[in-house]
Amino acid sequence: MSIISEISLSERYWLKNAHIPLCLLDDSHFSPDTREGLCRVDLEIAQGKISSIVLSGSNVIENPFIDLKGGIIFPGFVDIHTHLDKSHIWERSPNLDGTFDTAITALKRDTQVFWRPEDVYARMEFSLKCSYAHGTTAIRTHLDSCGRKADLVFEVFKRLQTQWQGKIILQAVCLVSLDYFLTDKGVILADKVAEYGGILGGVAYMNPYLDKQLNQVFTLAKERDLSLDFHVDENNDPNSVCLYKVAEVALKHEFPNQIICGHCCSLAVQPQEIVNQTMKLVKQANIGVVSLPMCNLYLQDRASDRTPYWRGITKVHEFKNQGIPVTFASDNCRDPFFGFGDHDGLEVFKESVRIAHLDTPYSDWCSGVTKIPGILMGLSSIGRISVGLNADLILFKARYFSELLSRSQSNRIVLRRGKPINTNLPDYAELDNLVLVN
Ligand SMILES: [Zn+2]
Repeated sequence: MSIISEISLSERYWLKNAHIPLCLLDDSHFSPDTREGLCRVDLEIAQGKISSIVLSGSNVIENPFIDLKGGIIFPGFVDIHTHLDKSHIWERSPNLDGTFDTAITALKRDTQVFWRPEDVYARMEFSLKCSYAHGTTAIRTHLDSCGRKADLVFEVFKRLQTQWQGKIILQAVCLVSLDYFLTDKGVILADKVAEYGGILGGVAYMNPYLDKQLNQVFTLAKERDLSLDFHVDENNDPNSVCLYKVAEVALKHEFPNQIICGHCCSLAVQPQEIVNQTMKLVKQANIGVVSLPMCNLYLQDRASDRTPYWRGITKVHEFKNQGIPVTFASDNCRDPFFGFGDHDGLEVFKESVRIAHLDTPYSDWCSGVTKIPGILMGLSSIGRISVGLNADLILFKARYFSELLSRSQSNRIVLRRGKPINTNLPDYAELDNLVLVN
């Protein structure tokens, strides 16, 4: 009998000889038995929950059990920064020179010409199907919210959030440039975000009114008890210090809720003294950082007829060394900002490891696509493996990180509440009713 059919039938069973990263196990009694920090443990699953975790060889295993022979188990992925509303528009709105400016222009046109509720719904739903099959349990998506688009995207988001309840936890952040909040429309948008239980957010650009814009955003968020999530410094301009500004205003406002800043690329090209000042404030303001390595590698340092040499990602090692929470996420998927992607947390981790050298050592970096984003999203019961939590797990054949990050792991088994789900990815033909090619 295959593993899948065996555990499909059982309400109680053991997963024997699993390798689990120590950082994803809450129990401090365990110690790693590989130099990569993997612990060899047996897990008991009962009625959809993890009912016990013991060191392998403890001799308490009862039938039925499945011997994973050292295969790695991860908790479900947590994708903290995505743009599901833009996803899968590449064929009709490609980015033919690969630059940031062309991406903005192509997206603007796409929203004007093609965005209808059924179009946005189908693409977002397709994205969720991919994410679910790969093993993701929670997603935060930014939603383009300028003008009347806000009504459309938030309404579609709400439908999907309800329909996917129990499968993927969905959070929404509004996305506009911060000057929008100095207009009456910005106040209406903040009210809408509050009405939908979302997060207030936007793109910060260096400009003479940035302080005023940030003060207004923080005031609107405080008045409505909202968390904040910004796009900052997605460029290679050393003078781009939006992250510093966000932290400064956050401290001035004594902002009580979670703040997240994504990208933070320009830190990589700033003098160390400036970076140190920024990191000090970021830590004081309790800001979580999201790095989007795949999108940054794609857009940053792009110019025709010249080989790129800058990776574009922020100083993730330095943030981590300062005790600042660092996470990694998908960002865009098959749209003008990133022409590839499939909403796979493993791909995000794999690319992050390779691009940012997270393998020397692996340390607890895998918590950046699982546990830490869960905490930053206020979802402390996901993204980790602990007794009493739902058995939402991903079972890999790979036994070590090198094996895990060398193949696509398309044969992974995804358990939701202890039962294997169908991990077949949706057929691209499901999108054929939409305008796909322009
Ligand atoms: Zn983004």
